Amino acid sequence: LAETGTLLRVERARKQFGGVIAVNDVSFDVHAREIVALIGPNGAGKSTTFNLITGILTTTGGTIELHGRPIDNTPPQQVVKLGIARTFQHVKLVPDMTVLENVAIGAHLRGHSGALSSMLRFDRADEARLLAEATRQIKRVGLAAEIDQLAGSLSLGQQRIVEIARALCADPVLLLLDEPAAGLRHMEKQRLAALLRQLRDGGMSVLLVEHDMGFVMDLADRIVVLDFGTRIAEGTPAAIRTNPEVIKAYLGA
Ligand code: ADP
Ligand code: MG
Repeated sequence: LAETGTLLRVERARKQFGGVIAVNDVSFDVHAREIVALIGPNGAGKSTTFNLITGILTTTGGTIELHGRPIDNTPPQQVVKLGIARTFQHVKLVPDMTVLENVAIGAHLRGHSGALSSMLRFDRADEARLLAEATRQIKRVGLAAEIDQLAGSLSLGQQRIVEIARALCADPVLLLLDEPAAGLRHMEKQRLAALLRQLRDGGMSVLLVEHDMGFVMDLADRIVVLDFGTRIAEGTPAAIRTNPEVIKAYLGA
């Protein structure tokens, strides 16, 4: 796998729902070892773009490539195997299971196409392997001390990090995060940002949708701005902050 250069290429991606063009020929790249933020007002097309990349939705035009190979219209399970893992806007942990169980079960379900068939084929060796991998990722994200605690007893910030550990079990090259900072306190945001920088510096790329501008401006290497399904700007946080088109979109002028 390439260590540098373009990892993800979104080229004139399009998604139309009846008369609504949710994503209107949007293009952007994510490079290796880069944190890219996708921002824009409500209804701009951010979630739809995520769903096109992860295979939850099929495109109605354009291409999406990972390592130069088309991945659009590939089923979500296959996209995960190709190296793209994601977390969701709302925490999807089982509150009365431990951190370890949550991460291991998530990793298990992620690697199989059908819950029933995967349970029938699941054996002790698989279980040991999953628990070892889950433990490794929990340590990697800095939650070793909480590994046997119930997920529901953790702070929201810690729960978000558990979800990242779960995504990391898929061994992704690209991590997609949907509003990871939403509802977090200042210290929790700082801890999350430090983790994402650590992952980037270890060779991973991160694409995040985020409304918290302070968080984005502090963390992102590059920002892509959508408005009404169209990419209206792209650049460094410093350039985006002063871009007249972006200011106009956010003020609704
Ligand atoms: P964002 O995540 O930036 O708030 P979305 O990608 O959710 O925006 O939505 C972009 C546009 O597409 C909106 O106008 C939304 O109403 C529309 N849209 C999203 N999903 C669907 C759907 N399944 N069916 C019809 N319209 C949709
Ligand atoms: Mg959305």
